[in-house]
Amino acid sequence: MTQKKSSTLAALGEFGLISRITARVTPHESVITGIGDDAAVTALTPGMRLLTSTDMLLEDVHFRRAWHDPFTLGRKSLAVSISDIAAMGGIPHWALLSLAIPPDLPLDFIDDLMRGFQEVATEYNVTLIGGDTCSSRNGLTISVTIMGEQYPDLIVRRSGAQPDDDIWVTGTLGDAAFALSQLENGTAVSESLLSRLLNPAPRVSVALAFAEAGLATAMIDVSDGIRADFGHIADMSGVGGTLRVDDLPLSGMFRSVTADLGAIPFEYALTGGEDYELCFTARNSNREKIVACAKKCGVAATRVGIVTSFSGVTVITRDGTPCTAPFNGFNHFT
Ligand SMILES: [Mg+2]
Repeated sequence: MTQKKSSTLAALGEFGLISRITARVTPHESVITGIGDDAAVTALTPGMRLLTSTDMLLEDVHFRRAWHDPFTLGRKSLAVSISDIAAMGGIPHWALLSLAIPPDLPLDFIDDLMRGFQEVATEYNVTLIGGDTCSSRNGLTISVTIMGEQYPDLIVRRSGAQPDDDIWVTGTLGDAAFALSQLENGTAVSESLLSRLLNPAPRVSVALAFAEAGLATAMIDVSDGIRADFGHIADMSGVGGTLRVDDLPLSGMFRSVTADLGAIPFEYALTGGEDYELCFTARNSNREKIVACAKKCGVAATRVGIVTSFSGVTVITRDGTPCTAPFNGFNHFT
């Protein structure tokens, strides 16, 4: 197969690649100077604080090229960053993207990756304002820095949970982790579960609605499993909690594909990563408001536990018996 010279990364060069990426960026009024100068200049909304978060996706650690097509990988790389701004009750605005690219990566791959990235940017009103590209000797690395804003009083931290608050979660848990386990086993995976893994949707509007209504006392996005992620809220708030395993919300597809396993495999919902739902705590007097607020945003919210004054996270069954299974979240260093 012959390729036109301009269709390879090597022929295009770093600056060629940057102009190719820049050509796809839709200008936004908040961006005074975007890609192309030494630094971007953005206009902040008076009275708001800047929220910043960064995430790295490494080939064969966070994704595999065999499973992720470049378009959905581009979508996911921005979506998971946006999820961190959502988890603060923030409004996502600006992104920086850095790519370390293996020299043999086809230019089409980068084009598709950027189409996916740009599609999510448009969906969530985020503008790419800069980044970096370099050559990688060992796989593709995608690093996204996301910036957003919020008024100081509306920012929701991990540290605000109080004893007797309810523990809530949006949507359903376990779909992404179950899809990953099926991919790893080489089993056929249902499309809807696979899309939860490969193409997650950050819960921006419902998070913002909770923040604006002052309903969430603490919040986090579920990236490493609710057991571990609620654990972060508990640690930062100086509290503990009890999670009711039978109340964890599972999708219809999850229930149907796991129906013949004997027992419901709750471990995927408890400890499986990458759901990108929101786990939050709230006063128990706000239950109805929370359900109504979530419903307005087209998302389910489910109460799954209670914050305790003593530390430690306990998982219990319906009759109150503690679960003894070793429920741990995804640990990047094991
Ligand atoms: Mg997070």
